[in-house]
Amino acid sequence: MTLREKMYREQRLKTLFEQAQRHGFDYADGILERNVFPSAQALTNLDRFDEPLPVKSGDAESILTELHSYGSPASVAQTGGRYFGFVNGGILPVTLATKWLTDFWDQNTALYAMSPVTSKLEEICEQWLRQLFKLPDNTVAGFVSGTSAAIFCGLAAARYRIFKNQHWDFNQRGHNGAPPIRIIAGRHTHGAVIKAVALLGFGVDNIEWVDCDDQGRIVPSAMPPIDHSCIILLQAGNVNSGAFDPLHEICDNANSANAWVHIDGAFGLWAGGTKRLCHLTEGMEKAHSWSVDGHKTLNTPYDSGILLCRDKDALVAALQASGAYLNFSENRDGMHYTPEMSRRARAIELWAALKYLGSDGVDELIYGLHERAVQFAYELSAANFKVVNEVVFNQIIVAPSEEDETTQSIIEAIQQSGECWVGGSMWMGKKVIRISVCSWVTNSEDISRSVQAFVQARQAICGK
Ligand SMILES: *Cc1c(COP(=O)(O)O)cnc(C)c1O
Repeated sequence: MTLREKMYREQRLKTLFEQAQRHGFDYADGILERNVFPSAQALTNLDRFDEPLPVKSGDAESILTELHSYGSPASVAQTGGRYFGFVNGGILPVTLATKWLTDFWDQNTALYAMSPVTSKLEEICEQWLRQLFKLPDNTVAGFVSGTSAAIFCGLAAARYRIFKNQHWDFNQRGHNGAPPIRIIAGRHTHGAVIKAVALLGFGVDNIEWVDCDDQGRIVPSAMPPIDHSCIILLQAGNVNSGAFDPLHEICDNANSANAWVHIDGAFGLWAGGTKRLCHLTEGMEKAHSWSVDGHKTLNTPYDSGILLCRDKDALVAALQASGAYLNFSENRDGMHYTPEMSRRARAIELWAALKYLGSDGVDELIYGLHERAVQFAYELSAANFKVVNEVVFNQIIVAPSEEDETTQSIIEAIQQSGECWVGGSMWMGKKVIRISVCSWVTNSEDISRSVQAFVQARQAICGK
């Protein structure tokens, strides 16, 4: 049998896909009970993947079996209810199912001509996001791999616009001899923003750092004077404390000076799409660009980031592309809004999430994360753990000990318990535990059970 005949057969028989479904269901059925982090045995078993590149074509069903046998147990149970590490979201069932279906389509989203349906659904997502976040009518959306990519695009648009206002065509002339651009950022700015500053050639040493308060929010009175050469980097959701910068006042000042404001709201911007937490993002509509993830608090599959920008001309110019074979259309050609050309149809899962949730559902999902974070903080405090931050959103910072080493040992003991997974961070010069409530699955029993894991870990390390 030739390779092609073999693959025709696999496609026709479909047993391979039934097998994938069985394994997937098997995985989902065990997710709530298994260790959150893989067991030592599961990690050792990863050595099974060590082998030379095969010479002969393999058997598809055996490949899937091997992946399920040794891969599934070595995955981290992020889709269960007790994963609180980093800021990683779960996955809404409707988005997972949508991904399955659209995987059969395997669409390339660069141009309308490549996928009219994706072009259409990107357009719908753009409209719905504008409406949900109450952004200006001229706001456009780019669907990228994550917030890191979204920030990069937002700052590229900012750079294009600021230079253009000074009659400098950045695409043609570049940085050499260009007028200076000032970058203003809070001391708690996320690493992904700083990375974009470096990647775009602004120079991290050129950032004008602004002091923050004890929650990590920019202090408005500490802002330097703003002018038309400034890009101001604000955040909606500090990655440790969940705190929101005071957007209102800073955006007003920026707009009077004709400066550009980018708001990084990777997980926190969704507060602005709720009824009960939208006070946190008050004033966000006055910025120029926004970055937000689908794959964190909204619980779409990875990889799903969104760049929103109210200066379409600057964004499209910054991400310009040309080629004789590219037939741009009257319809939405997605590649105008992203750095990539070929791209999977990730906006379809976002569309499914928004259609399924509706604005009420977004409120219920996001506010629910907040409620369980509040419960987590409350139960930890009741168990004599020191909660360091104001739990305004879904993030909790805990200082279980004055000693960094003890805190580290407690973190490791919690992780090794398999009961839940939390990571560490540094906060105001001290080692802390950082908790992110980020999945729709997490219920109040998961929280109480996790608090027990904290208590037991402290007992094991400190004997009390
Ligand atoms: C996660 C995060 C990022 C980076 O987002 P990715 O989707 O991982 O690229 C940027 N900013 C903040 C505040 C984040 O939480």
